[in-house]
Amino acid sequence: MIFNGLFGGTFNPIHNGHLKAALEVIARLPLDRVLFIPSYIPPHKNHKEVVPVRHRLKMVEIACQGYLKFLVSDVEARRPGPSYSISTLKKFKTTFQDEKFFFIVGSDAFLEIDTWKDYSLLLKECSFIVVTRPGFGLELVKKVIDKIRPANLFIIDHKKTISKEELLIGGIYLLEAATPDISSTEIRRRLQAGLPISGLVPKGVEDYIKKYKLYH
Ligand code: ATP
Ligand code: MG
Repeated sequence: MIFNGLFGGTFNPIHNGHLKAALEVIARLPLDRVLFIPSYIPPHKNHKEVVPVRHRLKMVEIACQGYLKFLVSDVEARRPGPSYSISTLKKFKTTFQDEKFFFIVGSDAFLEIDTWKDYSLLLKECSFIVVTRPGFGLELVKKVIDKIRPANLFIIDHKKTISKEELLIGGIYLLEAATPDISSTEIRRRLQAGLPISGLVPKGVEDYIKKYKLYH
């Protein structure tokens, strides 16, 4: 049975923090692949900072080149309107009925889980792998978990791993990981200020941003 990680985000742009988070996940949990899923964001109202989804998709493709287990999905990019995770999950589950799906989220995003559409259904339908992000450590996440009270909580301390059997139990898998303190917001700010972004994004992504003069 194939185990897929679903890693959604705006990826505006994708950066080395996203890649390191996904690498930590596949190093420590037995996933066969991670699908990066850039979300659709309408090109109007209040989203001036978000570049069109075709650019975000292309940058994710460039960043994932060379990583055998990293794939890119355009399922949300092709679906106009808000990208709800519950719809994305249903789509994958009906299209690939004998595969398993696990949502991957950073701890900052998970803190807001109760604002997601049908989040209690989503938590029932799918396990979550929550990757800690600098500034959003275990303690903060545990507070949210106390509120949502999942059936099973697995805390994966630094260096610990999870087996396929443990992953099949299902629940919330809280992965303590050393991911770099990089955000897309910081990258956009640096670009607007004319500062370099090398080391924060893959070289190919940096070249793409320059070529299309994104975020200037
Ligand atoms: P922005 O600053 O625009 O919000 P971002 O860097 O937070 O961008 P997103 O596209 O919002 O990137 O994030 C997509 C997913 O990746 C989210 O689940 C987020 O928590 C996670 N993530 C982003 N950066 C990191 C990081 N450095 N470490 C771990 N997880 C991360
Ligand atoms: Mg974010």
